[in-house]
Amino acid sequence: SLIQYEDFTTIKWLGEGSFAKVYLISKHNKLQVLKVINLGQLAGSLRFVAEQELQLLKTIHHPNIVTYLGGEVRGNDLFIVLEYCAGGDLAKLIYQRVQQGGPRFSEKRIVSWALSIASALNLLHTKGILHRDLKPHNIFLTLGNKSVKLGDFGLARVTEGDINMPRTIVGSPAYMSPEVANGLPYDGKADMWSLGCCLYELATLQRGYPYEQVHVEGEYSKGFNEAVISMLSRDPTKRPSAADLLINPFLRAVAGPRS
Ligand code: ADP
Ligand code: MG
Repeated sequence: SLIQYEDFTTIKWLGEGSFAKVYLISKHNKLQVLKVINLGQLAGSLRFVAEQELQLLKTIHHPNIVTYLGGEVRGNDLFIVLEYCAGGDLAKLIYQRVQQGGPRFSEKRIVSWALSIASALNLLHTKGILHRDLKPHNIFLTLGNKSVKLGDFGLARVTEGDINMPRTIVGSPAYMSPEVANGLPYDGKADMWSLGCCLYELATLQRGYPYEQVHVEGEYSKGFNEAVISMLSRDPTKRPSAADLLINPFLRAVAGPRS
């Protein structure tokens, strides 16, 4: 059933994710997204941490990041208001291509998305925030698929109240770095592995568990392959950081001038 509060109207139900109910809402005549996360078991002190974390997330503004517009704990639920991305998510776009039997996404398009997400990750990582669940499902498209925006970052910390060295296992198995899967300490390079998995999937239209040799056949160039392979190095220190990816001369040339 749809929720109604004095400050917004629910337009429609967008879906139910792994831990949240998601609605399209209208607030002051603007379309926004409301995520309702049940905090059920979360202790009082952790609720406080959840609200503090949300305050931090609200300070993050970047053209390739889904903006956190508001959030508060109401009863047992955490309400989070987000920027609405009318183009849906990348997982749906990939699914459509798979259903239609192709064509694959062009290298220029994938690289342009990759640099956008690297730019978003670079900001998060410099602020000490890891995404921890980077996957096509959490990469959103704006109206007319003009640009991509990274969403759902930092939520694990909000819901767990875990502000120390991240050792908890979160994320989706298909996109999870070896160090995360093995319960080892990890850093921003874990997100770079996940981004590598996304690029692999965009290029092949197949979800890989690319632990072995990665090679993207056909229309993709050597420079592109090498970038994806380096992101999928089992040793995190061998992976490029988000900042490294942004200055990769080959990728920059493929993407062309960025607006
Ligand atoms: P969870 O993160 O709990 O798994 P989801 O992110 O899967 O929840 O959200 C459920 C649905 O809502 C998905 O279909 C997703 O595309 C959509 N959605 C989530 N956030 C946005 C947003 N900011 N703009 C547009 N659609 C969104
Ligand atoms: Mg999500």
